[in-house]
Amino acid sequence: MKKDDLITLKIEDLSSEGLGIGRHDGITFFVKDTVIGDVVEAKVMKMKKTYGHARLMRLIEESPDRVEPPCPVTRQCGGCQIQAMRYQAQLAFKENKVRNNLRRIGGIENPPMEPIIGMDAFNVEDAVAGEEAPAGMEAFLGAKALADGVTPLRYRNKAQFPIGRSRDGRLIAGFYAGRTHTIIECRDCLLGSKVNAWILDAVLKHMERYGIEPYDETTGSGLVRHVMTRVGFRTGQIMVCLVVNGRSLPHSEELCETLAAIPGMTSITLNSNLEKTNVIMGKDLKVLWGTEYIEDLIGDVCFRISPLSFYQVNPLQTQKLYEKVLEYAGLTGQETVWDLYCGIGTISLFLAQKARKVYGVELVPEAIRDARQNAELNGITNAEFYVGRAEDVLPQKYAEEGIRADVIVVDPPRKGCEESVLETMVQMQPQRIVYVSCDSATLARDLKYLSKRGCEVQKVCPVDMFGNSVHCECVVLMSRVKDFLID
Ligand code: SAH
Repeated sequence: MKKDDLITLKIEDLSSEGLGIGRHDGITFFVKDTVIGDVVEAKVMKMKKTYGHARLMRLIEESPDRVEPPCPVTRQCGGCQIQAMRYQAQLAFKENKVRNNLRRIGGIENPPMEPIIGMDAFNVEDAVAGEEAPAGMEAFLGAKALADGVTPLRYRNKAQFPIGRSRDGRLIAGFYAGRTHTIIECRDCLLGSKVNAWILDAVLKHMERYGIEPYDETTGSGLVRHVMTRVGFRTGQIMVCLVVNGRSLPHSEELCETLAAIPGMTSITLNSNLEKTNVIMGKDLKVLWGTEYIEDLIGDVCFRISPLSFYQVNPLQTQKLYEKVLEYAGLTGQETVWDLYCGIGTISLFLAQKARKVYGVELVPEAIRDARQNAELNGITNAEFYVGRAEDVLPQKYAEEGIRADVIVVDPPRKGCEESVLETMVQMQPQRIVYVSCDSATLARDLKYLSKRGCEVQKVCPVDMFGNSVHCECVVLMSRVKDFLID
């Protein structure tokens, strides 16, 4: 087998990045833009000893799970790796991925899986129909894109569009094509709110009118870098943040006037990012119109969200995720709960209503500032927050103050928990551990560690927060079955 050979492959699986996997002569090939069940003709692009990469040339036989992707730029953009896959098949793929990782990496032979929580009809179709939609949502969910009714769209409350020029010199907004910095033109990402297109139209028109240049990454010249938007699905409040390579935007009052006419507009801010960096937002923020933040609700808890705070991007599924966390936490009102990697305290405050006391730990000081503010905003007095790395704060508090917990919730970033965090968790001997994870491989590794030390996995529930992408969220309940074991 060598480069440029044409081969026939049956796609049997998907890699964690969403590439189709097929075998030919004992060699595994990865093929982009394929779906499990496809039979394809592919051209060998790269060969290694045991695997290769091939390019899709022709669909010989279409998978029954293949659907027409509603987004016209899905292949170039790459943000939705599995948009061409029927939604039910996407869910089955994610459920399997979690199960396999728990088996292979976690050593849990029969993971006690609950069915994956997908985005259901209420989230999309009913909401579009209008009547049962949560307040403010009708405006942001597009009926048109849902024509074939199988794929959840318009579920994201946040978008960040880079601004630039096309090859032929036009001003454009869009998304970076997978792993590159080429902008794929797209003002209306189908995962996001329809209002994004109106906002981008206004910003680009303004730039044209006053000859304002977009930022050029290679030379570091030009002004406008990104437009970030957020929509509170429950409140209908809209935020626009203009990220610029400078301290101001010419004639910004005029742009604000246009943007303020969009129903729901609440916050327009200017973020200065003067660095030559891939990081989108800078640190300096100035309010141009309205307030610095918008508000949104999860359950009964109201959150104040500023442009720099982290907030879950799929609010409808977040509510289901947190309800699962609450169910697994099994709170009666008497418990002391630790919420590690708490961000702006969303889980902490959701649980505080049912617990005696909640302690949150988070690395980013601004997030903790938001968490404290959000506690106050909701009149929640039994939540306390610490800034610091979980691996420093928890062992230190345990050694110095002998802190205890009935329930520990963790929601770490992709790389999972440091061993010192897990070790202290075991020493604290909580009744239950609820592990929320966005990467089932590191989740499985951490569950294995805990399983060897007296904890047992009771329930596993995947939750689909990122429809059309390969990512999957997961909640696990562990309980203490033996006292702390040392190996
Ligand atoms: N539970 C929150 C946020 C989860 S995202 C929610 O549901 O909204 C993970 C969070 O972990 C981020 O806010 C990140 O800043 C924080 N983080 C990353 N590394 C950390 C560490 N070592 N210790 C504490 N927090 C950390």
